[in-house]
Amino acid sequence: MGTLDELLWLPEPPPQKRPRDSQRSRLYSAERVLSNRDEHGQPCGSVDWTTVAEVQAFVDRVTRSRWWKSRSRVGKIVVKDGRGGMSARAYRSRGQSVIAIPRWARTRRVVLHELSHHLTPWTAAAHGNLFAANLVDLVRRWMGPDEAEALKESFRQAKVRHRR
Ligand SMILES: [Zn+2]
Repeated sequence: MGTLDELLWLPEPPPQKRPRDSQRSRLYSAERVLSNRDEHGQPCGSVDWTTVAEVQAFVDRVTRSRWWKSRSRVGKIVVKDGRGGMSARAYRSRGQSVIAIPRWARTRRVVLHELSHHLTPWTAAAHGNLFAANLVDLVRRWMGPDEAEALKESFRQAKVRHRR
């Protein structure tokens, strides 16, 4: 069974040690409540996009926005087919920022989760409070205030730190 994602962040030059990713499983649970996963973590329900090109178009819309540019120096993010992988992933490789996304994960919520990885510096914990705060902001801007409040409530219940 795949996890929501496995972060394979390969910064250049190699980083100092990252802080421990101590709230990852709590954050996954909190998000699962809102995602297209059943209680066993298996994908269910529908996806928002079927092709990589459609996901790329959405990612481009986000990264070309003033909203993104005022928060990040990450420019183009290349979307790749997550073929062979159970999980969606965000990483950097050979100077390129990448989101790899298998078919089941082509939902707005999972793509925003991966975008939050690119928005969060590698000096912060992978799924730490800064990541969670960025995710709430992304969800508010690209899904709406109700979705953002629902996510925050889910974080609160799961004791996921999400303040900057
Ligand atoms: Zn993640």
